[in-house]
Amino acid sequence: MQRLVAGNWKMHGLMADAVARSTALARWIGATGIGSAGSSVEVALFPPCVQVASVSALVPASVGVGVQDVHDAQQGAFTGAISAEMARDVGARWAIVGHSERRRGLGESEALVARKVAASLRAGLRPLLCVGEDLHERDAGRAIEVVEAQLAAVAAEVGAAGLAQLVMAYEPVWAIGTGRNATPAQVGEMHAAIRGYLLVQGAGVVRVLYGGSVNPGNAAALFAVAGVDGALVGGASLVPEQFIAICQAAAGGRVLGTSQ
Ligand code: PEP
Repeated sequence: MQRLVAGNWKMHGLMADAVARSTALARWIGATGIGSAGSSVEVALFPPCVQVASVSALVPASVGVGVQDVHDAQQGAFTGAISAEMARDVGARWAIVGHSERRRGLGESEALVARKVAASLRAGLRPLLCVGEDLHERDAGRAIEVVEAQLAAVAAEVGAAGLAQLVMAYEPVWAIGTGRNATPAQVGEMHAAIRGYLLVQGAGVVRVLYGGSVNPGNAAALFAVAGVDGALVGGASLVPEQFIAICQAAAGGRVLGTSQ
């Protein structure tokens, strides 16, 4: 299974920063082959939407560039919003959907997240669907139940064929931007639960990334957990050396022609 390392830049950096990060990554991919076509590692970047076209022009075609959110409608009087079609039109190939900063910070319901997954698929964007529980839910022993409910809403909207096109990111809310990691046991258990749920739904084998304070110091240990197919990286993706080190860890020292 080809690992995926995805960088979510959130609302950080002006164009000069985007250019510097993209150029550094492109140079490293060119030098090592990691992240190029045929590599054991796929790399994706999620800049602010106004930087998508510029970043796409700077990185190799093997690097998928995506948006951090889409509206669920194709067009309309929705001031400030962008549709999946608009994102696709300027070169986006991916869309993050259901990030906790939108679910919990902006009140996006499970039904809306599901419609955004459908909108992304409609436009030809690959959804990177984030799920995860908060600390209260974990402490109450409800983590798997919460994540399965998030998945069920999407399953009801897009069916098995839609689920099969997802890449999942398990992001425990309490580990995002906090410096706290889920333990390998917690990550392994949840990844197995997500994979099992999707298999039962008929979606086949779907990649499941881990996200939450991934950095160069913990990436290798996280990638060693069974069922971790890559990482969604926030803070560390803003610093080229750190993001590159995480991509390097995902490659595990293997570079070209080793995908399996
Ligand atoms: C994220 O925003 O998806 C994320 C995982 O952030 P961080 O790596 O900063 O915890």
